[in-house]
Amino acid sequence: MQYIDEYRDTELGKGLIKRIATISKRPVKLMEFCGGHTVSILKHGIRQLLPSNIEMLSGPGCPVCVTPVGDIDKSIALARKPETIITTFGDMIRVPGSSSSLQKEKAEGADVRIVYSARDAIEIARLNPLKKVVFVGVGFETTAPTVAASVMQAMNEGLNNYYILSLHKLCPPVMTALLLSHEIELDGIICPGHVCAVTGTRPFEFIGRDHNIAAAISGFEPLDILLAVEMLVRQVEDGKHTLENAYARVVRHEGNRQALNIMNEVFKTADSGWRGIGIVPDSGLRLKDKYRAFDAENAFEIEQIVVREHPGCICGDILRGVKRPYNCRLFKDVCNPGNPVGPCMVSAEGSCSAYYLYGGEDER
Ligand code: SF4
Repeated sequence: MQYIDEYRDTELGKGLIKRIATISKRPVKLMEFCGGHTVSILKHGIRQLLPSNIEMLSGPGCPVCVTPVGDIDKSIALARKPETIITTFGDMIRVPGSSSSLQKEKAEGADVRIVYSARDAIEIARLNPLKKVVFVGVGFETTAPTVAASVMQAMNEGLNNYYILSLHKLCPPVMTALLLSHEIELDGIICPGHVCAVTGTRPFEFIGRDHNIAAAISGFEPLDILLAVEMLVRQVEDGKHTLENAYARVVRHEGNRQALNIMNEVFKTADSGWRGIGIVPDSGLRLKDKYRAFDAENAFEIEQIVVREHPGCICGDILRGVKRPYNCRLFKDVCNPGNPVGPCMVSAEGSCSAYYLYGGEDER
């Protein structure tokens, strides 16, 4: 398959691994920020192929996983209102809240629908003028522009039964929070290629400039990731810390101006809660006042409930890179894709689900 097979070429991969082994002398800790990278690394056995002095840690780059329980509870509270139709992406409906999930609410009669995009949610709003259609928006800078476009479309059409529960998050602020916490001392970060395709490279330059840590933007195929790892270990060995782009076929320095303009037209930054990390300043997106009529948190009375997390779930620690799924005593026997206890087992980009599907009980 063009544009995929060449990035999975075994011989090229072996060559990259050999180069990495030749360059890399000292112990290094690298974090792959994005859940998509974690899945690819585990699926292709990259951890085991790398020299033993290179430790790979997973980061918080799974939007479903980082959505805190309180926000899941908000979506459930909205689903319980008889006048609403809740629309969201598939993974979200299985994430447990404090005492229920959107899936359970659906089984009990709530109108909860899986959609593939906010555009589908708009169509549901058009077809159901007597109902209030809420799109539960999760995702990073990649998803937010499409949701913003749906809000602009709803305004242009005069659609007055379409709302967004904006749980969108931004990547650079949470990276800053992780680095400032010094909970783990990283040597390098693999930056999320799809996010950088929208934002451009500039928002990630702070990693090297402010924190003296190597950074490389990567795509999601094995050779993309190996090339990024090579860039990182070379920087570490040379005592450099800058941002390199191992995904130049997609990521441009300036990013996607049109997508950014749409996102900035509709959303403003706001403090936001991250599972396991807490409130991170300016790391979320809320609708601007001009679009306030479409803000579900403004349009509905949302009952507050006491937030309860499963006491055995260590998703928060996993999202900060301080623990791995096999450190969780519930992993596999109690918590598995058929009975997910936490979001990291629900999401296709979650570490627990990736470890469950592709192995990874060893120490690497
Ligand atoms: Fe949470 Fe399940 Fe992962 Fe344990 S294995 S951290 S319970 S999602």
